[in-house]
Amino acid sequence: MKPGGALLEAEGLVRRYAMRRGFFGHAVEVRAVDGVSLKLERGRTLGLVGESGCGKSTTGRLVLGMEMPDAGRVSFEGATMPQPGSTAWRKLRARMQMVFQDPLGALDRRLPIATQIAEPLDIHAIGAASDRSARVEALLRAVGLRPDQGARYPHELSGGQRQRAVLARALATDPAVLVCDEPISALDVSIQAQVMNLLLDLQEQFGTSMLFVSHDLRAVRQVSHRVAVMYLGRIVEEGEPDAVLHDPAHPYTRALVSAIPHPGRTGQRMVLQGDPPNPADRPSGCAFHPRCPVANSFCAREAPVLKPRADGRLIACHVAHGEVTAGHGFTGQEAA
Ligand code: SF4
Repeated sequence: MKPGGALLEAEGLVRRYAMRRGFFGHAVEVRAVDGVSLKLERGRTLGLVGESGCGKSTTGRLVLGMEMPDAGRVSFEGATMPQPGSTAWRKLRARMQMVFQDPLGALDRRLPIATQIAEPLDIHAIGAASDRSARVEALLRAVGLRPDQGARYPHELSGGQRQRAVLARALATDPAVLVCDEPISALDVSIQAQVMNLLLDLQEQFGTSMLFVSHDLRAVRQVSHRVAVMYLGRIVEEGEPDAVLHDPAHPYTRALVSAIPHPGRTGQRMVLQGDPPNPADRPSGCAFHPRCPVANSFCAREAPVLKPRADGRLIACHVAHGEVTAGHGFTGQEAA
């Protein structure tokens, strides 16, 4: 498949949850995803990165229709995603698969992996039953497992082999889209690189589009053609990985990049002030302002809009767009 052209688009996705404060506390609304728009191109990977709890995994589930958004729209090949549970949706779901973080949790411990790899073919009635074993064998080989390993149970495989089996199962229906949710974070460091290379090979081989959700910037950079940085339910910066990671424009991206261990680093690591964000207690204005080292008083009042800079990079920051001058961080009195 030739890369390029939008395959899947999400516009203004919002997902809210009700959360109770304390045992007898009143219910508060949490906006896990707050107006996220993204575009997945054919045969390309979009990396979605951010701290735990920023809404990136929820975004992945919304994109696949595993959860319904409270607002916004997802379209696949230009048509709105059908209602979950409908026949049209089930047909489409065969073309969109998810790879989860924990391969052991994603597999059924009671079944040999060959049976589990064949499962999606049965569910979606793909191909003749007589061709199943040949197809399963081909999938095992494609992910670097031997056909005889198909007879093993999940606990008889290593972590890396299990994630390969999960990938084989996800690829069984020949999906156009893979959403990989932290696919390497449960693996040993020595295995992570192998799985990353496998993802790249599989994309080359099958032309699959990928949404790669991770907190690991280095991993995102290795596999992505474009990267979007999320903070508290919103995308704050989006662009080409080299540009975003070499020259981050948003102060939050700068903090993430500066936290990557680098043997040759000469500059200082940027330490974020304040606590990690609580989605139930969203700060006013720019949600990053209590932790931002260059926040201006204006930042606590007005939320920045994600919009393109002259070089085409999307950024949501008043200072990066030159709307206000850099301040010295928010002290709590300035907004008054
Ligand atoms: Fe920091 Fe203000 Fe930019 Fe938000 S808008 S990231 S607070 S400088």
